[in-house]
Amino acid sequence: MSSAATPLTPLTSANAPLLFPALSATQIARIASHGVTRPITRGEVLIEGGQTDVPFFVVKGGEIEVIRPSGLGDLLIAIVRPDQFTGDISMILGRPALMRLRVRESGEVVQLTRDQMHALIQADAEVSEVLMTALLHRRVAMVAQGIGDALLIGSARSAATLRIKAFLTRNGHPFKYLDIDRDADVRDLLDRFGVDAGDLPVLICRGEKVLKNPVNQEIADCLGFNSRIDRAHLRDVVIVGAGPAGLAAAVYAASEGLDALVLETSSPGGQAGSSSRIENYLGFPTGISGQELAERAYAQAQKFGADIMIAKSAAELTCERQACGVRMDDGATIPARTVIIATGARYRKPPLANLAQFEGVGVYYNATFMEDAQCGDDDEVIVVGGANSAGQAAVFLARAGRRVHVLVRSSSLSEGMSQYLLRRIEEAATIQVRTRTEIVALEGNGRLERVTWRDGTGAVSRHEIRHVFLMTGAEANTGWLKSHVALDAKGFIKTGPDLTSGDLAAAQWPLERSPYLLETSRPGVFAVGDVRCGNVKRVASAVGEGSIAISFVHRVLGEQVQA
Ligand SMILES: Cc1cc2nc3c(=O)[nH]c(=O)nc-3n(C[C@H](O)[C@H](O)[C@H](O)COP(=O)(O)OP(=O)(O)OC[C@H]3O[C@@H](n4cnc5c(N)ncnc54)[C@H](O)[C@@H]3O)c2cc1C
Repeated sequence: MSSAATPLTPLTSANAPLLFPALSATQIARIASHGVTRPITRGEVLIEGGQTDVPFFVVKGGEIEVIRPSGLGDLLIAIVRPDQFTGDISMILGRPALMRLRVRESGEVVQLTRDQMHALIQADAEVSEVLMTALLHRRVAMVAQGIGDALLIGSARSAATLRIKAFLTRNGHPFKYLDIDRDADVRDLLDRFGVDAGDLPVLICRGEKVLKNPVNQEIADCLGFNSRIDRAHLRDVVIVGAGPAGLAAAVYAASEGLDALVLETSSPGGQAGSSSRIENYLGFPTGISGQELAERAYAQAQKFGADIMIAKSAAELTCERQACGVRMDDGATIPARTVIIATGARYRKPPLANLAQFEGVGVYYNATFMEDAQCGDDDEVIVVGGANSAGQAAVFLARAGRRVHVLVRSSSLSEGMSQYLLRRIEEAATIQVRTRTEIVALEGNGRLERVTWRDGTGAVSRHEIRHVFLMTGAEANTGWLKSHVALDAKGFIKTGPDLTSGDLAAAQWPLERSPYLLETSRPGVFAVGDVRCGNVKRVASAVGEGSIAISFVHRVLGEQVQA
């Protein structure tokens, strides 16, 4: 017998068949061959919120209720019935359980450990598709409804609140947000947790631990993002950066049986993750948001078994003869047979003395729904930059008729922007392109209130504009390498044929063979994506290079075996 889960909350309403599909008898039999079948008894807690090593259940008889334990009171999220299965993408990501699972009606389940579940989804493509699709849809619904184990209390006027929201959102972690200025019950809640309004923003993990204005690393630790990852053992490949290039490398490495670990300073997706809509990436004719692309790639890499450490930065490359390692910002070193550097690039900041003062409170480096929500519908905004990222931001921010000024230093937009974006900008009545124009001053008290710009005639004018999106040319994230690999004059990493005999002599290249296509001046250390000199700054080329690098990793591992 099979039936849709009871519509108790938005999580189980209109899209119940997507979230709780019924498995066929043959599919259940195939799943059972990977685990054990056992009875369950009414009242039994199968999984506790926060538990690590989360098992997976298929219900054969009886019912399981899914409960969100929280400081705000427990909430019944769904009931899992016969032929349906439990789970959420946290299980694939190796993170602690967000929900408590309790038996509502005695019966029988098929139970798999996390490792057995991994083996199943790698071996059985048909079952994998059903499970992964449901788990991804469940996560999307939980994020949309704020059903999770984290409660953020902050203010729309605070840059730190925006940072924490962005970190949780871009890591696909569901959280509930309460605003001190808008939500009536917030002060009671602060009293209950013994927090002062002056401590905001605060993040409450699993209704227990209160973090006051936490840095990303504290949030990752509290929510157990990296809890299962073994940092001590020697990896076939350590990939630095989880943008499109690093995630592609992780997917190909793990799917080809390599032991891969990825280090990411912030959140998976890199620059692409901050795009409102990518329309030129193959296979997505109607476009895809950077966030969604990142979430899919992140889950795909984990499905194949890659480990991804969040909010951990590489601080140094340590290589001696054939042994390499990547030292992290917390001092620990991950040993690696090979390393792929995929640290990408970031926007160059204009030389404005008080820029940092307005970051997150009027000055933004991303244009996603989160930053968009910081601007009122009638607020004018400025986008600075002339490349595709600026074009996308302008079109996105103008979509509801908002007035957008695009400021570009050169004499036209066409040099750096794709035709489709140029056409949309031309057709948008509310977008005004101002060439040969640059910002010369920012003003405000606590948040950005006014902007002064200089135009092509040299005239300086002051404008009551409260939002500036900076999307100017990128610089390579190579500072952490401290010249351990050869760089070009602009700081991008030289690889393969771009390395001169002088570069190789300076790096004391020890091998008879020349560096492979994407190999740096250190044997077994590769660079891919935007961080690489000569790379075409596109999602597709980053993904392509990430995947190609893995074939060279195999060659180097083969050479190491022979040596
Ligand atoms: C807003 C925007 C819109 C865009 N739109 C498009 C588009 O429509 N189509 C298109 O083809 N391209 C687009 N691009 C360009 C595309 O996003 C980039 O070319 C692509 O993201 C590069 O991928 P990457 O993995 O090489 O680097 P990045 O995306 O820059 O990722 C690098 C990652 O490395 C991490 N990192 C950096 N230093 C460290 C360290 N020391 N330790 C650990 N991690 C580190 C960063 O946090 C980041 O996550 C857009 C870019 C932006 C900014």
